[in-house]
Amino acid sequence: MGTHSVEAMVLGIAQDGGIPQLACECPQCRAAWRDESLRRLVVSLGIIDHEAEEIWLVDAGPDICEQMNLLVSSYPGHRLAGLLLTHAHIGHYIGLAFLGRESRETRNLPILCTRRMANFLRTNQPWKQLVDLGNIALSIVEPGHSTILGSTATATPILVPHRDEHSDTVAWSIAGPTKRLVYCPDIDRWEGRILEAIEGADIALLDGTFYSADELPDRNTSEIPHPCISDSIKTFEGWETEIRFIHLNHSNRLLSDKELADQLRSRGFDIGKQGHVWSL
Ligand SMILES: [Zn+2]
Ligand SMILES: [Zn+2]
Ligand SMILES: [Zn+2]
Repeated sequence: MGTHSVEAMVLGIAQDGGIPQLACECPQCRAAWRDESLRRLVVSLGIIDHEAEEIWLVDAGPDICEQMNLLVSSYPGHRLAGLLLTHAHIGHYIGLAFLGRESRETRNLPILCTRRMANFLRTNQPWKQLVDLGNIALSIVEPGHSTILGSTATATPILVPHRDEHSDTVAWSIAGPTKRLVYCPDIDRWEGRILEAIEGADIALLDGTFYSADELPDRNTSEIPHPCISDSIKTFEGWETEIRFIHLNHSNRLLSDKELADQLRSRGFDIGKQGHVWSL
């Protein structure tokens, strides 16, 4: 089937609330409400397996309809084969609602997630109904263990530290025949297994929620801990992995400050770009 049998497509780069955010009057949101080209969909990744003609979606956020359309129109004839979830915060699972009766009504669509995430879905409405009616079929994955997607890709969940009220949180390491990509939209700090995974990957899409700690003057950033991009680039400078920041908050200055974005690129990093495709 040639060298492009597995591809990965960036389907969104915004934090859970999207860009622009609901009723937000900050300068970046006001600009994005006026100018559609400044809008960013909530984080998600598409995996395309050409041999199996299958599409897999990593994370199911509020923009799932538009993101599925982006995939289906880019890869006609491929069928949605399943979803991979990272954790139970709205930007990462709320889109499951569109798989039920009121919308797409899928049949036994495989949902790959951890045991805690699966328990959360099967015991809380409206997700429980999706399970009870067989719209989705929960498929529990163990951190560190690989699952085969389609014909050739593998997906391995990696536990990461994060605010875990309803579920634990994983990053996903996706490997095709030639390359490995790590998708880690939410993490509190860079520690543990994820560092080895990033080091061993060709491409890493990493939590870039905030550029710097002074971004949210009226909210205590210790309540919403994320490694700031300004610190992450010190951690990852010189690494061979191609690093792209995703999960950008509406306040992130990289969205509008061109000079800052140029500085980031000059140090070998960049923010993710919706629609960008890598062959794995
Ligand atoms: Zn998130
Ligand atoms: Zn805003
Ligand atoms: Zn989260």
